[in-house]
Amino acid sequence: MAVVVGTRPEIIKLAPVIGEVNALLDDDSAVIDTGQHFDKSMSGQLWRELGLPTPEVRLEAGSMTRAGCLGYLTAELGRVFAALSPSAVLVQGDTNTAAAGALAANAVGVPLVHINAGLRSYDRTMPEEHNRVITDHLADLCCAATPHNHANLALEGIPNNRVILTGNTIVEAVESQLPSREDRLAFLRWYGMLPDAYVLATIHHPENTDDPRTLRAIIEALASLVDRMPVLFPMHPRTRRAVQRADCKDALSRILIIDPVGSREFLSLAAHAAVLVSDSGGVAEEVTVLKRPLVVVRSSAERAESMEAGFARLAAPHQIVPAVAGILSRHRKLVARLANEPCPYGNGTAAARIAWATKQLIEQKKD
Ligand code: UDP
Repeated sequence: MAVVVGTRPEIIKLAPVIGEVNALLDDDSAVIDTGQHFDKSMSGQLWRELGLPTPEVRLEAGSMTRAGCLGYLTAELGRVFAALSPSAVLVQGDTNTAAAGALAANAVGVPLVHINAGLRSYDRTMPEEHNRVITDHLADLCCAATPHNHANLALEGIPNNRVILTGNTIVEAVESQLPSREDRLAFLRWYGMLPDAYVLATIHHPENTDDPRTLRAIIEALASLVDRMPVLFPMHPRTRRAVQRADCKDALSRILIIDPVGSREFLSLAAHAAVLVSDSGGVAEEVTVLKRPLVVVRSSAERAESMEAGFARLAAPHQIVPAVAGILSRHRKLVARLANEPCPYGNGTAAARIAWATKQLIEQKKD
């Protein structure tokens, strides 16, 4: 087996799968690091924290254009798969890493498993949307996290025998990484935060960082929330670079900006935030396990389940302040309701189901 990993969300969501697959196949998977997230704060510490094995192969796809990254990784991964001849290749999500892994597996004729398949925003301006479609259509096995994702695949003519409903591995990732209450509160104290009395923000999506006016509007909205409560912002390296161009020094100085934190630390901060403001797909899933309200700063989103269940709502930059104010005005009631709302992404058995279905696929391909 070969597992292709390159970015922060892949490290987090694939960690539970690697353990299950190795146990079921009684073999150690070759983990291939594409280096798409090469910043230490985005991958190095997480890799260790989540106990991923030393990669068999390390590539260097960081800091390339999308076209460069897809071309380079497809060629390199094709070479690696041809040399290792794995029984199957596993990719996750909608990154360039996943799409290139899919193209390379297809070119070399290795069975492909796509985890977190069937997400759709139907927004063709998003590179991730194209990565999802390419990967789903090439996959021999699409692991759909929800019935909605399963239906999206059926709508595009992907037959049922190539799809399995698994749930999302984020559930077991959160369950296994979330520290005890005591340790969580220690993380909060470290940043001077009190439970239910701060906003946790993460913004890194190109639609929010590429245009300096959009980024300035978001930073100014976050800064004005500081009148009500502190705003803690672990800042993605892309956003760090982009704020230099956004001319918003005064607003930035009001927000508590820190480097990206480890998974356990982030989950601790997320679990006790009064409200989260984020454009991250992974965070939109995690809040359904942590039972916290989220304002999603995106114009379109592919995690409809988080919104339908009431955990998340979309907001344009100018809607951030009223959206947060609305949540805070009925916070106690809302949090009490969310505490009883089932997680739409399954019950923490996704990794085991994915491992089982991968084993079936490998056996089928052998026959
Ligand atoms: N995350 C983290 N540290 C941080 C911010 C986020 O570990 O400082 C984790 C978070 O728990 C989530 C994941 O990063 O699981 C989401 O990754 P990201 O936002 O980079 O990508 P996306 O989900 O938008 O593809």
